[in-house]
Amino acid sequence: MTRDYRKGMQFLADARERLDMVAKKLKLDPGLVDKLKFPKRALIVSIPVKMDNGHLRVFTGYRVQHNLDRGPGKGGIRYHPEVTLEEVTALAMLMTWKCAVVNIPFGGAKGGVYCNPREMSLKELEGLTRRFTYEIMMMIGPEKDIAAPDVYTNPQVMSWMMDTYSMHQGFSVPGVVTGKPVHLGGSKGRLDATGRGVMFVTREGLKHISLSLKGTTIAIQGFGNVGSASAKLLSEAGAKIIAVSDISGGLFNPKGIDIPSLIKHVKRTKYKVIKGFKGPQFISDFKRANEKLFGLKVDVLIPAALENQITEENAGIIKAKMITEAANGPITPRADKILAKKKIFIIPDILANAAGVVVSYFEWVQDTQALFWKEEEVNRRLEEIMTEAFYDVLRAAKKHRVDMRMAAYMLAVFRVADATRLRGIYP
Ligand code: GLU
Repeated sequence: MTRDYRKGMQFLADARERLDMVAKKLKLDPGLVDKLKFPKRALIVSIPVKMDNGHLRVFTGYRVQHNLDRGPGKGGIRYHPEVTLEEVTALAMLMTWKCAVVNIPFGGAKGGVYCNPREMSLKELEGLTRRFTYEIMMMIGPEKDIAAPDVYTNPQVMSWMMDTYSMHQGFSVPGVVTGKPVHLGGSKGRLDATGRGVMFVTREGLKHISLSLKGTTIAIQGFGNVGSASAKLLSEAGAKIIAVSDISGGLFNPKGIDIPSLIKHVKRTKYKVIKGFKGPQFISDFKRANEKLFGLKVDVLIPAALENQITEENAGIIKAKMITEAANGPITPRADKILAKKKIFIIPDILANAAGVVVSYFEWVQDTQALFWKEEEVNRRLEEIMTEAFYDVLRAAKKHRVDMRMAAYMLAVFRVADATRLRGIYP
């Protein structure tokens, strides 16, 4: 595998540029801005894994803590062939803003392993996860830094992490990771949480532009955990999902795709992809499928895959009235400017996909208290936090005459900067 380091470097440069723009608006002290630009700490580890063929392979893993002034580090672990230190560092920064914008008491962190999980067996993935957990053990813990699922990691991976950490402590420590299965101290509602939050903010965003979910047309890029849960909950709420894409291609049906059947189909395929689903038009060429999806005349476009998907090259073709950023960092700053000229209402990632980490917070609270909530309780509290955060951001946008992204960043960066200022600099 050859890794393209430039993407991650650009992503980090973009994250820092956005921070600079917000800092200027907030008139922050330049020294403080520097503190927020760089992570508190970052760890690079080598992960030797005995592969099924008997050979040893060494993978590289990272855990980055961006800022812990508002509470322990929080953020997912990503297994992906494009993971780099810079990408993980940028994502850790996004986690800091995300936790702050929904006002939960966590700082930002992120982890990742450079690997291709699609080519690995379950046993290899278990070996990788356990050794990675062991290597980052000095950084994590329920009071220090709490991991969670991200791209290509899931409740099973979280179970192995929790078990490895617990074996070293000598007792069960469920609070070291969130996104666990319910039988291991996971929270009800966590699996669909990010998608549910995407549905809540999309609903409120549509109200703002005088539309409603009923009959609204939606295109979704990405059909992993977030994309599929968003599609399911949005279609249950009356929206029409007319296009969906993933790495295997894109599905198009102007009458609306049957989402429950598509989810069933994906579960049955070896690589968990949409390819092979009968009915709608299918384009197997990844690039062409994405182009078609982005260029559709829909009410809402939901990028729910990876960062840097909507760039200055393709922003021009977008015709949606609204974009809900379900992925982290799907729109580059340059594309943002193009979309702003088109007056597209954008619900930014740090708000739009924050429900995952909100229910992670609920999971951590439940684990800490060893007292578990009903699913309705989880969803009710989630709806309260997400709608409140949406209107906090909308109010800030109106007050300061800025777009939703700038408003969300202003709220978040102000909260973090204030925590840093109040705590002071040690020693
Ligand atoms: N990986 C998710 C995110 O990017 C969830 C993080 C968490 O629950 O800690 O927000």
